[in-house]
Amino acid sequence: MPSSVLIIDDSAAIRKQIIKALEPYGLFTCYHEAEDGLAGFKKFLSSPVDIVLCDLEMPLIDGFKFLGMLKGRPEFQDVPVILLTSVNDQIMKTRGLEQGASDYITKPFDHEELTARVRIHLKLKKLQDELKRANKLLLELSNTDQLTGLYNRRYMMESLDKEMQRTLRKGGNTSLILLDIDHFKRVNDRFGHLQGDAVLQKIALQLQKELRSYDCAARYGGEEFVAILPDSSLQDAVFVADRIRRAVQATRFSAPLVGLTLTVSLGVASFSQEHPSTIDGFIKQADDALYRAKDNGRNRVECHTPENGGIPSAETELHTR
Ligand code: GH3
Ligand code: MG
Ligand code: MG
Ligand code: MG
Repeated sequence: MPSSVLIIDDSAAIRKQIIKALEPYGLFTCYHEAEDGLAGFKKFLSSPVDIVLCDLEMPLIDGFKFLGMLKGRPEFQDVPVILLTSVNDQIMKTRGLEQGASDYITKPFDHEELTARVRIHLKLKKLQDELKRANKLLLELSNTDQLTGLYNRRYMMESLDKEMQRTLRKGGNTSLILLDIDHFKRVNDRFGHLQGDAVLQKIALQLQKELRSYDCAARYGGEEFVAILPDSSLQDAVFVADRIRRAVQATRFSAPLVGLTLTVSLGVASFSQEHPSTIDGFIKQADDALYRAKDNGRNRVECHTPENGGIPSAETELHTR
């Protein structure tokens, strides 16, 4: 992978000397130069680098100030800074390390020592980057349902908890839609489990398509899905749920599923400061509504209304709006 280095020194001769020292080793494809801390920081912002060699003593913005500027930007914390100092002053060097430098080298420097130190810090930086990428991937995997690519139940519970806390602090509503495919067993029985999986993938895509980017769609379990709708009233969520219901019913499948008509039942509940509940209680409200939708004939939306425990059907609500 191509690497780049930023060399900050008020002496053009020293910058040239450093490049001359590093070039034969082919560690970098790109050499950026700056004559003081401010120019260096600007370069740093405009083109990300893998390592910085920074003079300690410069007019105006010196090496310490440059380190201070970097500290204010958490995204740059992993870029190693090696201080170049002509002062053989232990206190200055220690201060530099305390302020975030990874290492220092005293001028006049030995070419091979400079290169060796640069090589070590570059390697550490690459390892750290790889670790970060691997952690990010692991986190994504641990939050993702493997079959559908939606969030999994674990992530959904975390996310719902956060949204409920936010609603308690800031007001408004968080709504929840639970969706269960109607007679899904028949799909498996008729087309086989693999085709059943393909249907689940298609429903997942459709669910996501009907939601806003900041809603959270997750696979709750087998053939059950859930959507968290932040800043949505019960009525808004019922409207969305019915749109999902109609979209699924209108879906046409390709071979070998030609002729399959699928429907879903949905239960909706809403949470607010006025109608708080525990996370389990909130999910149960949506789940009870979902079971009412099944009982009332499937392919429909039912909702929990706080006033009467959700007895009237959502369809009635939709029609009376
Ligand atoms: P209902 O309308 O009452 O919901 O009927 P149903 O057949 O959908 O409900 P039931 O809970 O009886 O069956 C759900 C089925 O979903 C049973 C199970 O084999 C199937 N299922 C669960 N997870 C998966 C999966 O990951 N892949 C496939 N292909 N099928 C699954
Ligand atoms: Mg200087
Ligand atoms: Mg089910
Ligand atoms: Mg089902």
